[in-house]
Amino acid sequence: AKEQGRRRAVVYDDGMQSHPLDTLTLSNKLATALNRQQFELYYQPQVNANTGQIIGLEALLRWQDSQGHFIPPSHFIPLAEQYGHITTIGDWVISEACRQIRLLMDTGYRISVSVNIASQQFNRSNFADIVINAVREFDVPAELLELELTERIVMANVEESIDTLNTLHDYGFKIAIDDFGTGYSSLSYLKRFPIDQLKIDKSFVDDLISCDDDAAIVTAIVAMANKLHIDTIAEGVETLDQVNFLEALGCNLIQGYYFSRPLSQPELQKYLKKSVNK
Ligand code: C2E
Ligand code: CA
Ligand code: CA
Ligand code: CA
Repeated sequence: AKEQGRRRAVVYDDGMQSHPLDTLTLSNKLATALNRQQFELYYQPQVNANTGQIIGLEALLRWQDSQGHFIPPSHFIPLAEQYGHITTIGDWVISEACRQIRLLMDTGYRISVSVNIASQQFNRSNFADIVINAVREFDVPAELLELELTERIVMANVEESIDTLNTLHDYGFKIAIDDFGTGYSSLSYLKRFPIDQLKIDKSFVDDLISCDDDAAIVTAIVAMANKLHIDTIAEGVETLDQVNFLEALGCNLIQGYYFSRPLSQPELQKYLKKSVNK
């Protein structure tokens, strides 16, 4: 009964119009999706609005089931976490991102790729080894792989997180804090972590121009991050007004539909050909 309650909760929290059983079906499909090669990474450009240069790409997971339906990550990632599939899928994401970095290097582009890391993935004792082995396998520099972790994940076990992140950072990997501002948000605490980038959550960007409070929060994050020599990037930027506003606040790094939606591999190649990153 408890199991069913949990399944029910997931379905209704997501606002899906489906019967609870569908969640179980979905989770079973999820178990075989990797072997059936139904996953694909899309890549969303991160742009320096000052220079127009592409400073990185965020890898975002896409799943097309056997009926050809695209199932959004907001539906299947929580299920994959709940049913224990996320570590296997997440390790595939890391490896696939490294393959992409290698592919880009072989075509003349040196661009970093960031991957989203789930809590269960990060909390394994061999997580650092898995990431290190992936860059070795594809012979790519560690500095081109960025790991995106939320505050919630790194703050769950502070001392262990600091150890793991130091190991990874010393090896050369970049560390980003995702959805920044929505969690514990103690910059003074985060000072103890080797962090390269804060990703300012879309929720602050959405009403940036109309809401003084959000503008104040973003200003404070950018100012403090600057002092700590941490980059800030704004997520979910959709309009030129938002770009200009963010630049005025000192946040030049932008990710969002204004510059580009997440792109499939062929779309990415076209996008890069048009830009001057070579
Ligand atoms: P996230 O890490 O915060 O990723 C940013 C999300 O915002 C992406 O949604 C992206 O498509 C969307 N986005 C980017 N720019 C804009 C914009 O201008 N407007 C709007 N409305 N949306 C924008 P997506 O791809 O649906 O992914 C949702 C979430 O699923 C991600 O949020 C992340 O938490 C999770 N996710 C995606 N891929 C992976 C993965 O490989 N592993 C794990 N563990 N989680 C993933
Ligand atoms: Ca992310
Ligand atoms: Ca985010
Ligand atoms: Ca998010």
